[in-house]
Amino acid sequence: MTDPSRQSNQISLPDHQIDALFERAQENRSNSYARYSEFPVGSVVTTSLGQVFDGCSVENGSFGLTLCAERSALSAAIAGGFDPGSDVRIEQVVIAGPDNTSCPPCGACRQWISELAAGSVVSFWWDGKLISVAASALTPFTYTYVRPNI
Ligand SMILES: [Zn+2]
Repeated sequence: MTDPSRQSNQISLPDHQIDALFERAQENRSNSYARYSEFPVGSVVTTSLGQVFDGCSVENGSFGLTLCAERSALSAAIAGGFDPGSDVRIEQVVIAGPDNTSCPPCGACRQWISELAAGSVVSFWWDGKLISVAASALTPFTYTYVRPNI
């Protein structure tokens, strides 16, 4: 198996930049509602305007309704005025699982990221280290709705 940390699609971010955001994502993790899985996750997204939006996982007894931390943060960005159709972009999505557990975005979150934060860099703990990859590398064949001509 290929070591994911050696894949060429990783991006190097300055330590001071990613460390502060990862610390904030870890702090957001403490706000998670993870009573079922006991796997709390925090997240942060940043915009090209320098805005920072927080998120955390929110579970539900109907498990399929659980909201992941990164979708929570993207929702906070939308609620805070981020308009995906504007010139403002989501630049970073940072995800922090418990105890530096590998915690890449799930399939649903990758779809959200591909639509709302397509040009972003996504950072998460993987195989013992914090890595950063282009959103496009996480989800190379994204679904995009195209309105049919009826
Ligand atoms: Zn997810």
